[in-house]
Amino acid sequence: MVLDDLGTSLRSSLDTLQGKTRLDEDDVEEIVKEIQRSLLSADVDVSLVMELSDSIETRALEEEPPGGTTARDHVLKIVYEEMVELVGDSTALPLEPQTILLAGLQGSGKTTSAAKMAWWFSTKGLRPAVIQTDTFRPGAYDQAEQMAERAEVDFYGDPDGDDPVEIAREGMEATADADVRIVDTAGRHALEDDLIAEIEEIEREVDPDRSLLVLDAAIGQGAKDQARQFEESIGIDGVVITKLDGTAKGGGALTAVNETGSSIAFLGSGETVQDIERFEPSGFISRLLG
Ligand code: GDP
Repeated sequence: MVLDDLGTSLRSSLDTLQGKTRLDEDDVEEIVKEIQRSLLSADVDVSLVMELSDSIETRALEEEPPGGTTARDHVLKIVYEEMVELVGDSTALPLEPQTILLAGLQGSGKTTSAAKMAWWFSTKGLRPAVIQTDTFRPGAYDQAEQMAERAEVDFYGDPDGDDPVEIAREGMEATADADVRIVDTAGRHALEDDLIAEIEEIEREVDPDRSLLVLDAAIGQGAKDQARQFEESIGIDGVVITKLDGTAKGGGALTAVNETGSSIAFLGSGETVQDIERFEPSGFISRLLG
C-alpha cells in the first residue's frame, strides 16, 4: 500500500474496519478524528485540517468502494488522495541552467540549504555555484565558503562588502561558468521592512528563475505571515523545509505552501551538505500522520 507507515492510532482505527465492506458514520467519524489529531500535533493549520477532514468524511460516506475493495482499503485510498492533494507534488526543478534565490528568516537554514542544494545539483551532473549576499550576519561569509568547499562547488562572496545588491551583481558575473546559481540572502530575526526592501532589490538584480522560501520544520503557525510577506514581495515558487531530523513534523510548512500557492522542493535533515532530499509526497504524508 502507498502508506504503510501510518500513525499507530490511525492504523488501529483502520484495522477495526477489517472485513467490513460498508462503512457507517461512526467508523468514518472515528478515523477522521484520528487524522485530525495527528495533523494538529504535526502543527498543520487548523483550517487546513478541517478542510481536509470534511473532504475525507464526505467522500468516505458517499463513494462506493469498488467491487472487491474492503472498506479499510477504500478509506485508506481516500485519505491518501486527499493528503496528496493538500501536500502537492514536489516543486518542478528542471535539470538545466538556472538561478535560484533563497529567502527566509535568520536561522531558518538558508546558508546550509544553499550548499546542500548546490551539492544536489552537482550530483545531477550540473555545475553549481553559491553566491553569498548576507552582509548582515557575522560569520555568514565564512560559513557559506566552508560549506561550498565541502560541497565542492563554486563560491562567490565578499567578506568586506556591505552592499548585498552589489555583491549579487558581482557574483552573477563571477560565476558565469556555472550552470546553476544559488543566491543566498540575509535573514533577520523577524520580518522587517529593510529585509523585504533588500531582498526585492536582489531579486531585481539577479532575476531568478525561481525563488524558494526556507523554513525551519518547527515554524508552526508563524509560517503564515512569513510566507505571505515573501510571496507578496518576491513571489515564492517553492518551499525548502529544514531540520526535519529534529522532533518537528513540518506541518507549518504546509501552511506556507498553501499560503503561497506553491509546493515543497527539498527537505533538509542534518547539518552536512549531503543531508538533503527532493520532496516526495508519500514519505512526508506518513510523517505527518505518524
Ligand atoms: P540561515 O541563517 O538561514 O542562513 O541559517 P543557517 O544555514 O546558518 O542554519 C542555522 C543553523 O541551523 C545552523 O547551525 C545549521 O547548522 C543548522 N541547520 C540548518 N539546516 C539543518 C538541518 O536540516 N538539520 C539540522 N539539525 N540543523 C540544520
